[in-house]
Amino acid sequence: ERARLDRLRHKPSVTLDGVNIELLANIELPADAPAAIAAGAVGVGLFRSEFLFMNRGGHLPDEEEQYRAYRAVVEAMNGLPVTIRTIDIGADKPLDRMSAHSTEHQTNPALGLRAIRWSLAEPEMFGAQLRAILRASAHGKVRLLIPMVAHPQEALRVREALSVAQQQLDAQGQPYSQVELGAMIEVPAAALILPSLLRHFDFVSIGTNDLIQYTLAIDRADEAVSHLYDPWHPAVLQLIASTIAQARAHGKAVSVCGEMAGDPAFTELLLAMGLTSFSMHPAQIASIKQRVLRADARLLQTRLPQVLAHEQPQDACAQWLATSAAR
Ligand code: PEP
Ligand code: MG
Repeated sequence: ERARLDRLRHKPSVTLDGVNIELLANIELPADAPAAIAAGAVGVGLFRSEFLFMNRGGHLPDEEEQYRAYRAVVEAMNGLPVTIRTIDIGADKPLDRMSAHSTEHQTNPALGLRAIRWSLAEPEMFGAQLRAILRASAHGKVRLLIPMVAHPQEALRVREALSVAQQQLDAQGQPYSQVELGAMIEVPAAALILPSLLRHFDFVSIGTNDLIQYTLAIDRADEAVSHLYDPWHPAVLQLIASTIAQARAHGKAVSVCGEMAGDPAFTELLLAMGLTSFSMHPAQIASIKQRVLRADARLLQTRLPQVLAHEQPQDACAQWLATSAAR
């Protein structure tokens, strides 16, 4: 089995009916990039930059240190695209207590000052991160991804901060390229107003981990309710399906970078929704590719309404898998 998965590595990931499916890697630190390459990822779909800021005591990385880290990833990926997510701090990923920018003492951290909200409240930190990311874009293909977007206003403020960062780099004579700007779709509100967000963003990436948490009101870190954390909940599936469909209808790239993208139980369902870009832990790429190679995307798409209408979508999914395996 191990050897068979190894052989899969350099095989293009294409469905039976010829649809190219992009399999990307989620990484947390520059040291993870070689594993992404080794797994056959065609790029980094999610670089969780907050890991550069965690377990640091009171000292957070400045622009220069961040630039070196982002550049190391871009160079390790050797021309493949790298999607860098701006700091997604707060809730399950707190900054150290000693830091002046600590996110401690929030009554409800998952609903508090986290991710892009935190960045917009810390304009100097945000500016330094944007400049570091822009500078890394001079060394390869970089895309910029914003976590926890909930409001079109946030897009405007990010665009503003980005143009300030560009002007500062221009003044210093620092080179950078144009970077595409994307939004994480992980708050139900964002999925529900997707067309307005698509006016401001070049691409979207669905964060199913948080989308499940916020749709079902289940704290993803609270063990007392972990049995209710249900990726198969029809409300979650509807939000994912409509996000994919609307992004495609608007001609904008859409991927899934939450755990569902790397869980083989959901591969056929996501293909049925029209997804062509999956980002996951590098260790999952081979098994997802295996499922992609056996899938008929068009056939799956015709069956989607049936699954979405089902009260137990996982049963409907299991049924169609049983029939397609028998074919
Ligand atoms: C998500 O929420 O699905 C996601 C990819 O981001 P994180 O798990 O880092 O919050
Ligand atoms: Mg998230």
